[in-house]
Amino acid sequence: MNDFYGIDESKIREYARLAVRAGVNVQPGQKVVVRCEAQHYAFARMIAEEAYTAGAGEVVMKYSDTVCTRLYYENVSDEVLTEVPDWMGESMNYYAREKAAFISVSGSNPEAYKGLDPKRLQTRSNLLQTAQKEFRDATMMSLVPWTIIAVPQEDWAKKVFPDLSEEDAMRRLWEYILKTVRIGDGDAVKAWEEHVAFLQKKCCLMNSYAFEKLHYKNSLGTDFTVGLAKGHIWEGGSEKAGTGVTFLANMPTEEIFTMPDCRVAEGTLVSALPLSLKGTLVKNFKLTFHEGCVTDCAAEEGEEALKALLETDEGSRRLGEVAFVPYGSPISAMKTLFYNTLFDENASCHFALGRCYPTTVAGGENMSEAELSAVGGNFSVNHVDFMVGTSDLAITGILADGSEVEVFRDGVWAI
Ligand code: ZN
Ligand code: ZN
Repeated sequence: MNDFYGIDESKIREYARLAVRAGVNVQPGQKVVVRCEAQHYAFARMIAEEAYTAGAGEVVMKYSDTVCTRLYYENVSDEVLTEVPDWMGESMNYYAREKAAFISVSGSNPEAYKGLDPKRLQTRSNLLQTAQKEFRDATMMSLVPWTIIAVPQEDWAKKVFPDLSEEDAMRRLWEYILKTVRIGDGDAVKAWEEHVAFLQKKCCLMNSYAFEKLHYKNSLGTDFTVGLAKGHIWEGGSEKAGTGVTFLANMPTEEIFTMPDCRVAEGTLVSALPLSLKGTLVKNFKLTFHEGCVTDCAAEEGEEALKALLETDEGSRRLGEVAFVPYGSPISAMKTLFYNTLFDENASCHFALGRCYPTTVAGGENMSEAELSAVGGNFSVNHVDFMVGTSDLAITGILADGSEVEVFRDGVWAI
């Protein structure tokens, strides 16, 4: 047994290389910040090696550990909870100013913080997000290249494959992840180029229509209309960073997405998949919107965590992203609930509550917050994707003159 549960180590290394090359496209002399869980150290070392091989000037490792973080939440006083010394913001903001490349390795236990007070988690998260605003703005506006990938971890693997032994579950999750990031027998970098070209073709098609609104309907109870921001741009696959290089913000990625008008949303959205929200699962939930704002919510499980999210700030009750993923995409075809948004959002059409991506509107990267708000851009410390796509989802595009175009039928592209 190696560190990777019997998976061919060269494939794992290929994955690390893919994250460094196709993911953030490390340039000679560039600083690289790697954020990961302590137990992912073996994979993180590969990333560091590959980054230096690609010419990185410095690789900065930032390890965290959900077990210690849980102990922190269980033990610290409210006073300590709200302490965010300057260095905590600066530890990320500095590297954003330095135009570093940011690699995040996700894959912690989806229920790591189950049972903890969601308000305490949200309070801390909001303070950290605010302190690290410069870093957050740099990634949301694509000023710097960044990527999120995932690596298995025992609690997560057992959650996804509860009937397998821990070892088998780990091996299976590794196999699935490698498959979703197109690592197999062929050339993964080439496979990604083809995939990105396909997504960009769909973006061109959607951009040519420039719909004013989209209407969603399915048998779960979703009946919902959302406005799209004036001048919205559909994006998908790779993006261009302010530093001039192309990068892939998420690996895997199957979505194309754009900016909704956060003032225009009416009706009800019903979740198609559970949502892992700061270590708490929210299941079978429903959001009702009026004039762009969530006016009512209910969940069979995890309702408190959902409410804590919605109560964070005004923007948390409004939408910041609309994304299309056909039912039957390679990830949805796996018929596996990953309990990790990186995978689950790529299995299903989704929306995000909270902050918009300024690059998804024409000229957005040079607009002030006031200018973005004027076209319907949303602002919040949160950005949380939630999945609504089902095998019977119908999406209709509505043009400015009121005419309609069928965009999705039975969960897949109709145009
Ligand atoms: Zn998305
Ligand atoms: Zn998102």
